[in-house]
Amino acid sequence: MGFSLRSIVYLLPQVWRVLRAGPLTVQFPFAPPELQEGYRGQVVVDAARCRGCSLCVRDCPAFALELEREGREEYRLIYHPDRCAYCGQCELSCQFGAIRLSNTFTRATADRDTLTRVLVDRRPSPPPLDE
Ligand code: SF4
Ligand code: SF4
Repeated sequence: MGFSLRSIVYLLPQVWRVLRAGPLTVQFPFAPPELQEGYRGQVVVDAARCRGCSLCVRDCPAFALELEREGREEYRLIYHPDRCAYCGQCELSCQFGAIRLSNTFTRATADRDTLTRVLVDRRPSPPPLDE
């Protein structure tokens, strides 16, 4: 066997250090992940700032944003995280500071349709039901 006393003397402090340090692997999903500053996560919008100009939609290279317009002031801004490349172009394009990438991430799912989110909903309220 190739273990000499010298290598054991060298290795023992290393083993002790690693044992004292505890687990070094990521604990997710049992604990929240530690994300770095500047992490580019999901897209969020300050709805009060959004003007519905659709610049973010036009410039998104991944077709991850969609604007459904029903009238001049009535629209929905829809986000598809399953298409998003997290490039940050939408944040650069928005002239009103309304859209930005947040420090949150998209959880895995088997049904990508469940990921779609309405970021801004400026549709008129639905008419009341007939009595
Ligand atoms: S981060 Fe990039 S890919 Fe994602 S919505 Fe914005 S522009 Fe599109
Ligand atoms: S988020 Fe910004 S760029 Fe996108 S529609 Fe709203 S105002 Fe325009």
